[in-house]
Amino acid sequence: MKIAIDGPAGSGKSTIAKQIAKNLNITYIDTGAMYRAITLYCLNNKISENNLEMIENALKNIDLEFINNVIFINKVDVSSEIRSPLVTNNVSNYAKIVIIREFLQKKQKMIAESQSIIMDGRDIGTVVLKDADIKIFLTASVEERARRRLKDLSNEGYDVDKNLLTEEIRRRDEIDSTRTHSPLKKAKDAIEIDTSNMTIEEVISTIEDIIRRG
Ligand code: C5P
Repeated sequence: MKIAIDGPAGSGKSTIAKQIAKNLNITYIDTGAMYRAITLYCLNNKISENNLEMIENALKNIDLEFINNVIFINKVDVSSEIRSPLVTNNVSNYAKIVIIREFLQKKQKMIAESQSIIMDGRDIGTVVLKDADIKIFLTASVEERARRRLKDLSNEGYDVDKNLLTEEIRRRDEIDSTRTHSPLKKAKDAIEIDTSNMTIEEVISTIEDIIRRG
């Protein structure tokens, strides 16, 4: 079984996909974490998003692994570092680079080939798992998404201004949905769920109903 969950920043994709994966006992892959990991590597190695030659070289030297929802770059666990505001503010600029997208999409397709999977991202239903059994597109108002992220970030110890966060989400959505290569877009055959006024449990049970009905 292949399940694709797409949607803009803060729409609740990862919390929901993680729980559904647990309930169904299938693998969960957070593709945003992969784009974040590449971004972190580039920032740490002072590789600008404009330097395609250095990026190409970097991709040859990056060993990216996902083990039980923990992400490693060259054997180093970067799971918490990839959530920093610095990475968040830069990730969309690296995620629009074609060689990075093709590198990660190939990896994601390979991971999905051999197992039942639920994958979340921006281009899963449209590109990575075009033939997914179930495609979900999650949305929520930008205010609600900012409120959720503020809560998550403060739980992780980051102190962020709500207005700045709202602006960052808008900017990220804009870059993600207007890029030329595999932009954030609802697949034609995806079911859209507006989660603005729903609890996490309600969204999970709505999606699990859709899965049961096939
Ligand atoms: O899902 P998350 O917010 O962690 O994703 C971080 C960024 O990675 C997104 O804003 C987007 O730029 C990029 N991304 C993407 N395609 C995906 C997943 C994430 O371009 N499939």
